[in-house]
Amino acid sequence: MNFKQHIAENKDHYLNDLFTLLRQKSISAQNDGVRDCAALVVGKLKEAGIAHVEIIETDDHPVVYAEQHVSDDAPTMLIYGHYDVQPPDPLDEWKSPPFEPTIRDGKIYARGVGDNKGQMLAQILAAQTYIATAGELPLNVKFVFEGEEEIGSKNLPTFVETHKEKLAADFVYTSDGPMLSSGNPYVLLGTRGMLYVELKAKGSDFDNHSGNKGNIAQNPAWKIIELLQSMRDDEGNILIEGFYDDVEAPTDLERQLLEQLPFNIEELREQVGDQKIDLSKADYYKKLCFEPTFNIAGFSSGYSGEGAKTIIPSEATVKMDMRLVNNQDPDEIFERFKAHVSKFALDITVAKIGAMSPSRTSANYQIVETVREATERSFERKTFIQPSLGGSLPNHVWTNILGVPSVIVPYANADEANHSPNENLVVDNFYKGILCTCEVMKAASQMTKDELLQKRTTLA
Ligand SMILES: [Zn+2]
Repeated sequence: MNFKQHIAENKDHYLNDLFTLLRQKSISAQNDGVRDCAALVVGKLKEAGIAHVEIIETDDHPVVYAEQHVSDDAPTMLIYGHYDVQPPDPLDEWKSPPFEPTIRDGKIYARGVGDNKGQMLAQILAAQTYIATAGELPLNVKFVFEGEEEIGSKNLPTFVETHKEKLAADFVYTSDGPMLSSGNPYVLLGTRGMLYVELKAKGSDFDNHSGNKGNIAQNPAWKIIELLQSMRDDEGNILIEGFYDDVEAPTDLERQLLEQLPFNIEELREQVGDQKIDLSKADYYKKLCFEPTFNIAGFSSGYSGEGAKTIIPSEATVKMDMRLVNNQDPDEIFERFKAHVSKFALDITVAKIGAMSPSRTSANYQIVETVREATERSFERKTFIQPSLGGSLPNHVWTNILGVPSVIVPYANADEANHSPNENLVVDNFYKGILCTCEVMKAASQMTKDELLQKRTTLA
């Protein structure tokens, strides 16, 4: 029997497995049901026929770990996913209860169905399908399912660092996030990192009368605006010394891949809510995948209520996020940022609110093309390769700490509404996802470890 037939014959059974998982809450931010969900995932892995399954504690929510070793010569695939979900609020915007999965118009509606339970379970059921049809997996597989992705994967770097030997693999495979807005699947090779900072400027001990103390009391809002202006020129270039030092330009192959990606300017204007946006495809993807951002996320000082209040504020605060690209190091960028501030004004304080490293897997590895072809076969739709996501994920734990290629293949529909009310997954994507993981396992197993990591420099 082939994979497709097996999946078709077990349709109801597999969907039922997913519904059981969706009914179990696992809201990491509220510590609601997380451990019960981990136990359920352990059960699913055992049911799939995976020999070794265990729960590994971290400082907070546990990791569900499993592995099946078939041969020392076979490549090893590490599958990453997460079983925790976002809080379901606002509840009254859901058309059906978030923890009671409901099918409407070919989509399953439930919190976590796309992000990430449906995609994670597709990986487990792929192993189950493979073992049921072929008797055994074709390569060594390790599973790492964490329970803290929705609260920033705070213990994942330490977990990977501590268990480096146990986790040794030839490549990492993740299915999370939505497909391209065109509806096409794609293979994602990296993510932008992030540095989040808060600037605070102090003036007087309290707000002052802007007339009686005008020209006398200092205004910290002006000070911080002048600082911000010293950081960026009229064209948007960042003037902090060394900010761009470690940024890598796209390779020829990466440029070719960007050129192939779908792009629709009308749709982009719609998505951003700005009809004035004018960009070429090359610029769009270059800005998204290969350039860091320097964003003012919030600015507060003085009075911003209704009408007038004539004061000189005593404090000004700015929150900023910088999405970093390969090979920028958030800690180093933070030092450079601080150095710029202290050169400019000693009495403005800088605090680091958050940091995550960027990651990038070389598009040249053979495994990248192998995964792309397997995805295209399974979803029966043209499948693209994108060198980096605009957003941030803890993908650097695989590329930087474990030191192996990492490919992300989203199985969810573009409008999955992850983190929002009425989160959904197209039922067919769930089944095609199971098939896709089977095809990736099969294709990777037909190559030696060396062949998987062979390099190509241009597209075939
Ligand atoms: Zn999420």
